Amino acid sequence: MKNIFNIAILPGDGIGPEVMSETYKILDVINKKFDFKIKTHEFDIGGIAFDKFGTPLPKETLDGCIKSDAILFGSVGGEKWTCLSRDKQPETGALLPLRRFFNLFMNIRPIKLNFALKQLSPLKKEIIKDGFDILCIRELIGGIYFGLPKGRNTFDKKNISAFDTEIYSTKEIERIANIAFQLSLKRRKLVFSIDKANVLESSSLWREVVTKVSKNFPEVKLIHLYVDNAAMQIIKNPNQFDVILCSNLFGDILSDECAMLTGSVGMLPSASLNKNFFGLFEPAGGSAPDLKGKNIANPIAQILSLALLCEYSLKLNYVAQFIELAVINTLKKGYRTLDISDGKNYITTKQMGDNIAQTLSEIIKS
Ligand code: NAD
Repeated sequence: MKNIFNIAILPGDGIGPEVMSETYKILDVINKKFDFKIKTHEFDIGGIAFDKFGTPLPKETLDGCIKSDAILFGSVGGEKWTCLSRDKQPETGALLPLRRFFNLFMNIRPIKLNFALKQLSPLKKEIIKDGFDILCIRELIGGIYFGLPKGRNTFDKKNISAFDTEIYSTKEIERIANIAFQLSLKRRKLVFSIDKANVLESSSLWREVVTKVSKNFPEVKLIHLYVDNAAMQIIKNPNQFDVILCSNLFGDILSDECAMLTGSVGMLPSASLNKNFFGLFEPAGGSAPDLKGKNIANPIAQILSLALLCEYSLKLNYVAQFIELAVINTLKKGYRTLDISDGKNYITTKQMGDNIAQTLSEIIKS
């Protein structure tokens, strides 16, 4: 087994650097406790990189990512950079090009509510009495976010029109559907495919291709849901879901809806992977400019992103499980950051990082 791993660390903007600092505490514990080393190499990305180098994705950052085994990403963006052209903006000029460059076509978000932590959810007690465990799989480099043509017709200045293109090919749908079915084999063997096939041509192809792929997985049950119905069912009974398979746009929206069911977007990690399971791992939320510099952001999403990185890219499943358990045990002890607290009793970002690192150190020892 490999005993040295190299990971690129890209803290980015807003709360990115604050929550990323807490993952270094976790990495310290891991590097002390196990006989392999995870080496970190930090680079600028997003608005901060634009301010320093005139580009949100400097060459040094891309080269650093190419040389690494995986990328741990904070978040990018902020009001300050919204006036720039799209290729200079933090998300469209750095994050989306990184996803495209590494062909990170699958986005995986585990959305779990441990039943011991159900008081964190905004849903009624009876709905989440057993907790839930959803795996949201989103196609990430196709669909309406990248489809061409897109643009504006400005010939009538008083009535400008703007357009985007939702486009999917058989191959793109097959590739993401295969991942969803494969991952469901290790779970409840239930795939919910989301579309709007009653209205959209691209969704109608999506449904056809997913149905065809499902024939290779006879032990997995496939259920098709229209996206509007899925949005309702997630609130009504989240526990009925196992794997949710979505296009880029529907996945963006539904995965955030699922995220809120756990109490806060600050709790949820995500993995964006290519076919070799090289990946970019990041919190589900954004740069939260409203929290920047206040030491109150929740670092759990960033810490659990490190756990996903260990699981999917470094193949260190047991390390991922230790990190996840350390987070659960810390929450069970009653520690809360502001976003998941009663608004009065809460600890800081740094204290949450210290507590999780301490708990991790204790559980690896025992
Ligand atoms: P956001 O996720 O940053 O914030 C939404 C809400 O969630 C805010 O109330 C915020 O305080 C809260 N929140 C987010 N992360 C949290 C955490 N760790 N702990 C506690 N609360 C948390 O989304 P937004 O406000 O729509 O966007 C803000 C900026 O982030 C924008 O510039 C946007 O473009 C960017 N963004 C970046 C990414 C990314 O880097 N992947 C993703 C989404 C948004």
